Amino acid sequence: MKTEFSPAQLANPDIAEADKILRACVHCGFCTATCPTYVLLGDELDSPRGRIYLIKEMLEKDRPPTQEVVKHIDRCLSCLACMTTCPSGVNYMHLVDQARARIEKEYVRPLTERLLRAALAWVLPRPGLFRLSMMLARLGRPLAALLPAPRPAAASPTLLRRIKAMLALAPGSLPAPGPVGGSIFPALGPRRGRVALLQGCAQQVLAPRINQAAINLLTRHGVEVVLVKDEQCCGALTHHLGRDDDALARARANITVWLTEAEGDGLDAILVTTSGCGTVIKDYGFMLREDRNFAAAAARISALAKDITEYLGSIELQPAQQKSDLVIAYHSACSLQHGQKITHAPKELLSKNGFVVKDVPESHLCCGSAGTYNILQPDIANRLRDRKVANIAKVRPDMIAAGNIGCMVQIAGGTSVPVVHTVELLDWATGGPRPGLN
Ligand code: SF4
Ligand code: SF4
Repeated sequence: MKTEFSPAQLANPDIAEADKILRACVHCGFCTATCPTYVLLGDELDSPRGRIYLIKEMLEKDRPPTQEVVKHIDRCLSCLACMTTCPSGVNYMHLVDQARARIEKEYVRPLTERLLRAALAWVLPRPGLFRLSMMLARLGRPLAALLPAPRPAAASPTLLRRIKAMLALAPGSLPAPGPVGGSIFPALGPRRGRVALLQGCAQQVLAPRINQAAINLLTRHGVEVVLVKDEQCCGALTHHLGRDDDALARARANITVWLTEAEGDGLDAILVTTSGCGTVIKDYGFMLREDRNFAAAAARISALAKDITEYLGSIELQPAQQKSDLVIAYHSACSLQHGQKITHAPKELLSKNGFVVKDVPESHLCCGSAGTYNILQPDIANRLRDRKVANIAKVRPDMIAAGNIGCMVQIAGGTSVPVVHTVELLDWATGGPRPGLN
């Protein structure tokens, strides 16, 4: 794609990066076929190619974002299916991240939307506040019936429909909190590795059992696990809201504490059980490339970050103790399959450990969770969830496995089949408790 940035514009490293990305696009449109919003809405402006044109126009003309641009960028899930499909290697992720940051800085949203986004950015990365908000949402759930239902057409969602979506996502009860930062779980038997495990923010409130399963599994296999003290939210949630100052501050804080740990008692890896977070931590090196004080450290941390299944694939797991013929529908989270290109490892691990693993039809399409998307765009998100659940039902599973808490909550909202994390099944297969019973 031909671009027309001026030399002065290209002196800005972000614009230079955007120019490089835009020039790689050959307008072939292959990406449209796998874009969930284009598949649902059929509007070119809700396709990757359409959005690329909108972003190009906004950046080239150095114009403030228009309402039209904001509408179509807001509808993008950042699922990155388009990056998997693109034959030219267009880095849509870095382009749309830049567009979101510009929208956040230069576009004035209606007051209710500003307040909602500010509340999400404030509450979600703070587990204490998130827990409190989930308790309040539980109390408010009976009111959900009085709020307007999702609309199948892709109109702009109202605040009331967004509140209804939030209430619907609140769990019926909350588990007791898991272990705190600073905890160390020694290897059982001879130590063969030492890792940090990302504590996560929403996940540690909604499902601390996931990291508990990871800790049990790792320590049983001779790996010491540390929950690094003073670790924060990885920044993914605010990054996807375009609030880059907040996201970068969190990245720097995490890099500092993780490096201290790596240079102290040593770390072989920083393991992540929430693939949405893993994708962003692996991108810290890019996000901080212009920061002289953090660029090298950020690149080092990104190299240390691994999805839990990547790491488990690199160590020998003890033979399965539970011979199970359970049929598992494996839901491939977008952040794992498109963001991190991890497609085989989770399924191989499950198969090797005695499960009958089934791929879900249309597995490239997002379930509609996408960070805060299912709150901010509930109409599209609900349609995607219903489509995903219908596809999952076709393989008639006993359980559904996924590697991302956002997907797990989203899918569980549309099915009675137990939804568990891949690591919970692996823990069970190698001697841990059976998941999906709580
Ligand atoms: S597939 Fe890639 S090159 Fe083709 S239009 Fe989409 S982004 Fe551009
Ligand atoms: S990230 Fe997903 S929703 Fe956004 S343009 Fe790409 S395929 Fe479409």
